Amino acid sequence: MERTLVILKPSCIERGLIGEVIGRIEKRGLVIGGIKMMQLEEGILREHYSHLVDKPFFPSIVASMTACPVIVMCLRGVDVVRVFREMTGVTNGRKAAPGTLRGDFCMSGSLNIIHASDSVENAEIELARFFKPEELFDYMPATLPFIYEKDEY
Ligand code: ADP
Repeated sequence: MERTLVILKPSCIERGLIGEVIGRIEKRGLVIGGIKMMQLEEGILREHYSHLVDKPFFPSIVASMTACPVIVMCLRGVDVVRVFREMTGVTNGRKAAPGTLRGDFCMSGSLNIIHASDSVENAEIELARFFKPEELFDYMPATLPFIYEKDEY
């Protein structure tokens, strides 16, 4: 099954939204293949946000992403990269559609509670950045036959 990397950002942790986000992930039928809390530092953020390192707002990304520990997760599911990006909503919380995580739970373009990989290729790169191989699990939940038809997964 496809995998994606999710980060519950400090704006999610500090605002007490961990349960809301994980609850939606579980209710949608996505499988949690790995989960841990970690304190991010500038080095890993320079890699993770390499496309933004030269932007004037990069120091504020580092400040907001290191404000407290984050929760990193591996989600598994059919088409999970696209499905979870759609559940996340667009970058700016004020423009994100109602019903999306950002559209329901935040009001900021930067403090937007969650990161989700944007392609299958980047998801695998990002998972390797944040997880050791032994921290990721391939188990098949017993409920799977009630989430997908057999020929879907
Ligand atoms: P996304 O997280 O939706 O994939 P990007 O990869 O473009 O979006 O940006 C990564 C993160 O950098 C955003 O989620 C947001 O927290 C922050 N960011 C993006 N653009 C800005 C901006 N103009 N000012 C401040 N922070 C920004």
